[in-house]
Amino acid sequence: MSKTEARSEIVGRGNRDGAQLFREWFSELNATADQGGLSAYVFVMGSLAEILRVFDLPMVFPEINSLQTAVRRVAHEYLDEAEDVGYSPDICGYVKADVALQRRNGDHPMGTVPKPSMAVLTNACNTYIKWAEIWERMYDTPVFTLDIPGTRMAGGQTWSGDTDFENDRRYVEAQLKELITVCEGITGRKFDIDQFREVLGHANVMSWGWNKVLDLNKSHPSVFNALTDGTVYLGVANGFRGTREGADYFKDLVEEMEFKVEHGIGTITNEQYRLIFVGVPCYPIFRRFNEMFTEWGGTFLNSTYLWFASGGTNRGFEFDLNRPLASLAEGLLISVRDAMDSMFYQDQVLVDMIDDFAIDGVVYHPIKSCRTVSTGLADNRRAVMADRDIATLFIESDMMDRRVVSEAQLKNRIDAFFEGLAARKQKVAAL
Ligand code: SF4
Repeated sequence: MSKTEARSEIVGRGNRDGAQLFREWFSELNATADQGGLSAYVFVMGSLAEILRVFDLPMVFPEINSLQTAVRRVAHEYLDEAEDVGYSPDICGYVKADVALQRRNGDHPMGTVPKPSMAVLTNACNTYIKWAEIWERMYDTPVFTLDIPGTRMAGGQTWSGDTDFENDRRYVEAQLKELITVCEGITGRKFDIDQFREVLGHANVMSWGWNKVLDLNKSHPSVFNALTDGTVYLGVANGFRGTREGADYFKDLVEEMEFKVEHGIGTITNEQYRLIFVGVPCYPIFRRFNEMFTEWGGTFLNSTYLWFASGGTNRGFEFDLNRPLASLAEGLLISVRDAMDSMFYQDQVLVDMIDDFAIDGVVYHPIKSCRTVSTGLADNRRAVMADRDIATLFIESDMMDRRVVSEAQLKNRIDAFFEGLAARKQKVAAL
């Protein structure tokens, strides 16, 4: 293969293959809905895919289905429908889009979503718990909630070998055994430990790959945009966790990013400002939102979204296949706790990232719909600015509701941010 052929084959493969996997995933959901098959509704912060895959349960991620309605610019139709039956404009837009989707018998822009045979959630977001109650009321859906003990204080995490950690790990492991019993009851199948090990092996490859891909973006120029490309990778990390396809995808993605690093291929041709994004993207104007930064030569190297919405897979935790259930409990404790920390205690990790990724600016994007992610961001910004002399931008909109997304206002603020960044650069150059 010539150099040019290799380049066109490898560069952009992650986005192409990711889109294809997404289509296949929705085809599977469509077929399940058509045949009235079983499905598990799960969430991105602790999907427990590692156990559900052993029972061959197709997984529905309501958060991902909802954000897809916004990317496809029809979210307002779903939000209006849910508000018409009494859901408040203030609550999480993902919930409302799902309520309307259920009322439409699963009708989604990408196909038909099956009804839930069970729901599996963690305590990583309080909305998960109230959301699952809606399916309980609608369908009498059995709900399993995994309680993950969170960090007791900023910087106060405990680790393997510590008494508190071991107690927490045993607590999680006991709950996993309960989940296995629930799955056996719903599917009528016995838990297969060998299949479980195989699933964990695939998940290990994915965790290694996700961690490595995030790390490769430290390069100059950066090799993927955390906001746009990163969201595609994140979709695969969630939807294909524990599968051979997911593992192969991440091996290929590492190869693509290494190729780009080696050949100095950046995400934009003229990278001038290296940024971090804090929060959930603005899906109603997803492409345009990103363009408002790239037009100035700004690109996002990392985001807290890529950590918490991957359920902590960014930590690269690899399961010990010799003690699979205990190791899954340990991995969940570390990774879901990390996902929660990346929403509540980001300041130190952001400061570390500013140094490691040679960051010029931090963009905070609190949103109306998601208090879980947005509460405390103003304080967090102050803490980061107290620690580092860094430019920050604080812009508010939403991930679903176009009524609170003002493109003109956002552009004004973003333009002013870049003018400030340019002035900073000139000042540094003049020293
Ligand atoms: S409140 Fe935020 S974290 Fe919770 S489900 Fe909604 S978008 Fe997700």
